[in-house]
Amino acid sequence: MTARILNGKAVAAALRAQLAAQVAVLPYRPGLAVVLVGEEAASAVYVRNKDRAAREAGFAAQTIRLSAAVTQGELLATIAALNTDPAVDGILVQLPLPPHLTPRAVLEAVDPAKDVDGFHPVNAGRLQEGTALLAPCTPRGVMKLLEQAGVSLSGARAVVLGRSAIVGKPVAAMLLAANATVTIAHSRTRDLAAECRRADVLVAAVGQPELVRGDWVAEGATVIDVGINRLADGRLVGDCATAECAARAGAITPVPGGVGPMTIACLLENTLLAAQARRGVA
Ligand code: NAP
Repeated sequence: MTARILNGKAVAAALRAQLAAQVAVLPYRPGLAVVLVGEEAASAVYVRNKDRAAREAGFAAQTIRLSAAVTQGELLATIAALNTDPAVDGILVQLPLPPHLTPRAVLEAVDPAKDVDGFHPVNAGRLQEGTALLAPCTPRGVMKLLEQAGVSLSGARAVVLGRSAIVGKPVAAMLLAANATVTIAHSRTRDLAAECRRADVLVAAVGQPELVRGDWVAEGATVIDVGINRLADGRLVGDCATAECAARAGAITPVPGGVGPMTIACLLENTLLAAQARRGVA
């Protein structure tokens, strides 16, 4: 079997265009504030891309750049000001933060109603309950790709590789809410390959280049590769050995051009949702 390639770039572009059309007819511009601490190169690129995508879709985007030496107190004061700024609907603090700062305290300082990353414990709890308005963007992107691909989740066996708070756990909660039977595997899982082979839907989010080999994939399975790993030779690869896996999978996401572009599109969607909810629009 040769897998169908799930083109996240195209799905994300369509979602961004749809959001731009919705924003164009609003009597206000949804506001997104991105806080960037320090000058880490990868973070700077991510923030620039978020800012550009937001502006292109008609959002009022602002990037607040703080020195790498900012104190925890100064950062918390910046977030407090954004929490009360009526023009700001969504707040995102770009991670990772410099080591002298405490990310947990920073994320918990964001007003849950403006938490467009979906990382605040209130929103994480609501996701488990099935009542979250704002849920993490990358997992939302995974679910949208599955939906767009017409993958039937009810009763399907889903295996999530990785249990991080930003990808593995929330995507597992979303798959469960979609009535899949979900297994979460991680670094202590006894036989990773055997767990993966049972999956109708395999979501890999481990941050290990090409960990998932072709013979880990069941014939006809859907493989969603969240991983983004830069190799020493400069190549960008996922957590799955794409060519090997594609030889057995029914459908697979490429890296780059799969889940990656969905994350920013879902960030914009969350910002619009937050803006409408703050104005009492369901
Ligand atoms: P993370 O916080 O480092 O978590 C990795 C998870 O994978 C952990 O649960 C870890 O298990 C597990 N793991 C690591 N090595 C393993 C192994 N050899 N076997 C089995 N499990 C293993 O990573 P993350 O933030 O979730 O990100 C995962 C990947 O997705 C990264 O490549 C990241 O760059 C990418 N990512 C992409 C996007 C996007 O927009 N496309 C967004 C976020 C992340 P333990 O819990 O047991 O340690």
